[in-house]
Amino acid sequence: MAGLVVLFVLHPHPNPYLRIMSPTARDLPSDIVAEVARFLPIDRLVQASFFPNAAPNVAQYELRQRIKDAIEPYIERTAFDDFIEYLRASEGAIVGSVVREVLLLNGPTQPRRKATNLNITTSFGMEGVMRSFLRSQGYRSRALPPSERRSSSVDVIERFDRRTPCETRTILLSVSATRALSVVLCTPYSAQMCAITHNSVVCMLPRATLANESLVVEGAPASSNAEDLTFSVIPNNSHWTSPCGLQCPATWRKTPDDDGAAIYSWSMDDGQFTSWGSVEDDGRSFLRSEPLIWRVHSRCHNDHCPNKVLFEDRSRYLRP
Ligand SMILES: [Zn+2]
Repeated sequence: MAGLVVLFVLHPHPNPYLRIMSPTARDLPSDIVAEVARFLPIDRLVQASFFPNAAPNVAQYELRQRIKDAIEPYIERTAFDDFIEYLRASEGAIVGSVVREVLLLNGPTQPRRKATNLNITTSFGMEGVMRSFLRSQGYRSRALPPSERRSSSVDVIERFDRRTPCETRTILLSVSATRALSVVLCTPYSAQMCAITHNSVVCMLPRATLANESLVVEGAPASSNAEDLTFSVIPNNSHWTSPCGLQCPATWRKTPDDDGAAIYSWSMDDGQFTSWGSVEDDGRSFLRSEPLIWRVHSRCHNDHCPNKVLFEDRSRYLRP
């Protein structure tokens, strides 16, 4: 029902970040605004804050609940605050399919299947507190052989299992050879370039990721687990119908002050809800933790992108 309310109170506007509020929307009490927020996709969640009677931090509160729900199969709700504190202390982040579940909730596309485990990464040498915490939660662990590491950015992978009579829950802890950020970026798929830190959800390529599509990073080794992926792998971005802008796979990006990343703060105590990374917050601190330069591909296939034209002009000039 509340989903219908959203349709009535937020009229479309040519500017996707601007909606005209109807007179009835101005009168919505805060609890109804919070209910409306439950049905908004993450890239529109900030709009709940614009209602006159919206509670402070209504968007952050809703996103916090979504993160709690997503990791509840692995971390008890009563231990959530402790887990997040150890995530901060280990300079780490949640990565992988659970992050995409949070990003895609209420969106037009959904993951192809539910996450089967929780992936965490920490900075080098910082994993001790997280290991102790997970063991206190009933998990038993073992280090996986070096052949399980997907890239040289990972120093060691530790597998944590918690068995009950009904099921086994698994957490994979990847310790970075440097900072957690390099594990987020050194992946064969663009869809995996997202993370939940102790106070922000960070998505490096939101255009493709929020469509649950993934480009294969150029030069990445062929993956043998394509059937297990929760996202769709696309050969290129030729189906994009508008200019790429900062999301162009052929654009070199730098992690400090990366304007192309979407950053959604969910901290209740500090920071603001900073959709599209337009405001300074700790999500940007995560991106500043390691200066990296990266891109997905050397070539863009979007007819509406000047980078494709430039690439073709250059090819004609070099190989007439
Ligand atoms: Zn492009």
